[in-house]
Amino acid sequence: MSRVEELLRPEIRRMENYQVQPVSGEKLDANESPFSLPAGLKEKLIGWLTEEEDLRVYPDTDCIELREALAEKYGLQKENVLCAVGSDQLIDYLSRAFLSEGDRILVPEPSFSMYSLSAVVNHGEAVAFPLGEDFAYPVETILERCASVRPKILYLCTPNNPTGNVIPEADLRRLIREAGCIVALDEAYGEFCGEDHTAWIQEFPHLVILKTFSKAYGLAGIRTGYALGSEEIICALDKVRAPYNLGTLSQKIALWALRQPEYEAEIHQVVSERDRMYAALQKYNDTHGFSIYPSSANFFLMRFGRENPGQALLDADFLVRAYGGKMRRFVRVTVGRPDQNDRLLRQIVKMIEEDEA
Ligand code: PMP
Repeated sequence: MSRVEELLRPEIRRMENYQVQPVSGEKLDANESPFSLPAGLKEKLIGWLTEEEDLRVYPDTDCIELREALAEKYGLQKENVLCAVGSDQLIDYLSRAFLSEGDRILVPEPSFSMYSLSAVVNHGEAVAFPLGEDFAYPVETILERCASVRPKILYLCTPNNPTGNVIPEADLRRLIREAGCIVALDEAYGEFCGEDHTAWIQEFPHLVILKTFSKAYGLAGIRTGYALGSEEIICALDKVRAPYNLGTLSQKIALWALRQPEYEAEIHQVVSERDRMYAALQKYNDTHGFSIYPSSANFFLMRFGRENPGQALLDADFLVRAYGGKMRRFVRVTVGRPDQNDRLLRQIVKMIEEDEA
């Protein structure tokens, strides 16, 4: 073992580095928006850089304007909002603020991997509960686990990544009410299902909702996410926040994006493409081991008869999210532009036909 390895925390030594596939072909692996930059943003950027903006100085550490605009959008106060470098950073802040050595979080499986990763990096431990049939959140099991595991944080993701299903409203409310710990509700894809639970933060001081500009706003490149919660939770997260965490341009662009009306139409188009794809593929369910799962997000999950279907899609020039282990027959595909979706549909049907035993 090298000296560096000797000095490294054992749990970090055992971890794999986060892997992102090299970009090739049609990029449908990361649930990004199919739309290019909104009209006017490039000019705005050039304008800011030439006239107003001074990148010599640090950004507004408190993101005041952006937080005020977000607070207004949701009928809250800026004290209920915290901005960060993607919701990824907020997940890290939650672990930093709430986990002491050996503390546990409770996470759905399958779901977004950053929840567990952030717990391990912050001296905690993630305990997973399996999603039920058709990936439904098993309310009774989760509440039993909350009682026995006594997690500091329960993560709920709706629509869930990678399965696309939403947690029914009554279940969600019951989980939040009875969990007995911090409930982090990840709504990264909330805009695509039309549900929004931000009003609940007035009612539940232990609820924190995570949202992002990376998906519906098509701005994954500016790495901007935000948390909405009680003043108490937001103040706790703010304590562990790195000063000046969010760059000047990210703040400016996010603020500008919030005021653009065209996102509604973009979201509508993604949703109708998603539903078109689902309708076209659903008729193949149970054919040669294929299933497509209904989705309320901007992606959907499919199971194939073969193992590693991601490779055949990659060979056909579609970069998708593939999985190992129990999920090795599954892929998650982002809803793309109509022309990409048409080509993808043809490729998927070809694969289903090839999978005939
Ligand atoms: N939550 C979920 C469920 C996600 O799928 C993602 C990104 N894939 C994130 C959070 C993180 O998003 P970001 O850091 O870009 O805001």
